[in-house]
Amino acid sequence: MKRRRVVILGATGSIGQSALKVARDIPDRIEVVGLSAHRNSAALERASKEFPGARCVRTDGPDGAERLLELATLPSADLVLIAIVGTAGLQPALAAIEAGKDIAVASKEILVMAGEAVMAAAAKHGVKILPVDSEHNAIFQCLEGRETASVRRLILTCSGGPFRDTPREDFDAITPELALRHPTWQMGRKITIDSATLFNKALEMIEAKWLFGVPMDRIEVVVHPQSIIHSMVEFVDGSTLAQLSRSDMCFPIHYAATWPDRVPNSLQPLDFSALGRLDFEAPRRKDFPALGLAVEAGTRTGTLPAVLNAANEVAVDAFLHRRIRFPHIWEIVARTMDRCPHAGHPDLARLIEADRAAREIAAEIARSLRVGKH
Ligand code: NDP
Repeated sequence: MKRRRVVILGATGSIGQSALKVARDIPDRIEVVGLSAHRNSAALERASKEFPGARCVRTDGPDGAERLLELATLPSADLVLIAIVGTAGLQPALAAIEAGKDIAVASKEILVMAGEAVMAAAAKHGVKILPVDSEHNAIFQCLEGRETASVRRLILTCSGGPFRDTPREDFDAITPELALRHPTWQMGRKITIDSATLFNKALEMIEAKWLFGVPMDRIEVVVHPQSIIHSMVEFVDGSTLAQLSRSDMCFPIHYAATWPDRVPNSLQPLDFSALGRLDFEAPRRKDFPALGLAVEAGTRTGTLPAVLNAANEVAVDAFLHRRIRFPHIWEIVARTMDRCPHAGHPDLARLIEADRAAREIAAEIARSLRVGKH
């Protein structure tokens, strides 16, 4: 029985806190050896008291990037959980891989921006990428190491977000408060807005392409409002496997931390009689253009996924600060994708440059759309 020595980058966030819950639940399987917080020193202090052996760092100072790298390559660690929102986790993820550590990835943005580079680095250094995003964790569980040649389709489930039934003409009136009320998941602010626009699913389609080596035209999305089936794999023989659990991120974190074993825990299982039914419907692709933009970015690849991701981060921030309206998020991403020059086989430096340039262009478009501006 292996006890994994785990570093948690982004320990104060929603995923980070769930990871600490998992660590508390199965102390014979997880030893927390490192924790990072960006600004939330109170939560970091609480965690450091609870896990006194862990090295704890704050990363919002001028040497934050260095401290993250140091923690990601901590000699005593064998698994690094990347749970930092946005792309700040990319360099630490690559550093951990180069140091020979397995990584568990919650931060989908880093796989969208640089999935090819991350997967190539993992193959080169012989380390495992363990998906924590619930959909990818579900697919990982359904595949159980099978070759993707046996896969016909990956089917990502999607709650539909809070505006699944909202008519398109009401989208202009959506406020951050309304968008932050997710029907089935408790998450950080950025991913909650992404769930409302369906950019979360868009990012996940691209994430799935890199993680599992399946082309975009075999990655589908189905709306499943109960969020009980976390995703499915349809194999070439027509059989479909699904993974089910309550919507609690402790499940995928637990599996990533204990893989390849099945380990008992105190998480509450499903009660099918209480559940009653599971529903499915097609996503409203026209009203939620994020999915179409993901197909375009994930098919053309190059710098385009990095551009989509960066523009979305800028747009979400502008929306949360009430500078733009909700539908502007799609408009900013689409216009930024149109305006950014496209490079075919970018190296990491080129991707970082594409990310920077896209943020600048997206911010300029956001300023031009500013609410109240005439
Ligand atoms: P939160 O906003 O709740 O937490 C973000 C974490 O990252 C915090 O610990 C924060 O520190 C830290 N952080 C923020 N900015 C930086 C930075 N520039 N450098 C270093 N650390 C930073 O986010 P979530 O936990 O919701 O999401 C984390 C990632 O996991 C995202 O990529 C998200 O897409 C993904 N994910 C989340 C799910 C969820 O259920 N929440 C589900 C699936 C994926 P501090 O608080 O101290 O400032």
